[in-house]
Amino acid sequence: LRKELIDSEKMKVVSVISASVAHEIRNPLTTVRGFIQLLTQSEVAPEKKQQYGQLCLEELDRAQQIINDYLALAKPQPENIDKLDISEEISYVSKVLTSYANLNGVEIIVQFEPGLEISGDRSKFRQSLINLVKNGIEAMIGRGGVLEITARKQKRSVVLSIHDSGNGMTHEQISRLGTPYFSNKEKGTGLGTMVSFNIIKSMMGSINITSEVGKGTVCQIVFPQQL
Ligand code: ADP
Ligand code: MG
Repeated sequence: LRKELIDSEKMKVVSVISASVAHEIRNPLTTVRGFIQLLTQSEVAPEKKQQYGQLCLEELDRAQQIINDYLALAKPQPENIDKLDISEEISYVSKVLTSYANLNGVEIIVQFEPGLEISGDRSKFRQSLINLVKNGIEAMIGRGGVLEITARKQKRSVVLSIHDSGNGMTHEQISRLGTPYFSNKEKGTGLGTMVSFNIIKSMMGSINITSEVGKGTVCQIVFPQQL
């Protein structure tokens, strides 16, 4: 169950995203407006107030996430190319996501060969990994377990892999990865993988997804030899 996911057709869709972003942001805004309207009525019970306030915050966070993902995708940011030490970068990503993982009963294990280097924009590369690892963690919600991030050399390429033991994906779901607004999550934006794939592709990397429903997913990223 594998599919080469670098597909230029998918990237063309970016141009039509702006219209749907407006639409996507309108939903949370409408929800928040409704709750604020309720909150301004004097007879609202205190525990209801608390609940409505919480829902407003969640919806606003969602709107913000949509905007962040969209900007990462659509706004060409200046590239700041550096030599990246893979072990440093995956350790950083693991640290950033540790509390989110633990909250969901997931343990992140990082394993790498020393001295692996690639070149790229540090913050973009981190963003691309964060999105993918986050998906792995989210796939394990309610199950817990171990999520493994490994990096090794294969011939002269650098192979990075993110292995979760989450709910897995069907063929159809895998083929829709990286396309905008494909999400099976209540609070998902469906933009995370698209952002990640774009960044990895811009770094000449390729992505392979292997997945089995109910078992888990391996996301393998291969960066060609770096001179
Ligand atoms: P979002 O996470 O906001 O839903 P993404 O583009 O990051 O958007 O992911 C799209 C969808 O792909 C997810 O909603 C999920 O159904 C599926 N998916 C992505 N990664 C995984 C994974 N590691 N395991 C299972 N499903 C995944
Ligand atoms: Mg995601």
